[in-house]
Amino acid sequence: MKWLILLGLLVILAAIIGARYRQQIKMAIYVWRMFSKMRRASSAGEKQIDKQENPKDAALVRCAKCGVWIPQNKSLSLRSGSLFCSTACLEKTAPIN
Ligand SMILES: [Zn+2]
Repeated sequence: MKWLILLGLLVILAAIIGARYRQQIKMAIYVWRMFSKMRRASSAGEKQIDKQENPKDAALVRCAKCGVWIPQNKSLSLRSGSLFCSTACLEKTAPIN
């Protein structure tokens, strides 16, 4: 019986708080939605910038071992001028003397 009364009081309290802060709760939800919208919009903008900038700074080069095309800034090069996509390809092709 004690617990029922306590539970009843809690429910009443929750109802009172809910009624009193309804506007604040609505505002909080509204602000949160605005924020998530803004975050989505800004991340979409960043993606567009990436697409525009990528072709400029990344000239494609071909791996001398496996023939994969990779951006030049990600390639590994030997003194001889050969370019590789990874250390694995580099090691296979050029045994270190
Ligand atoms: Zn390769």
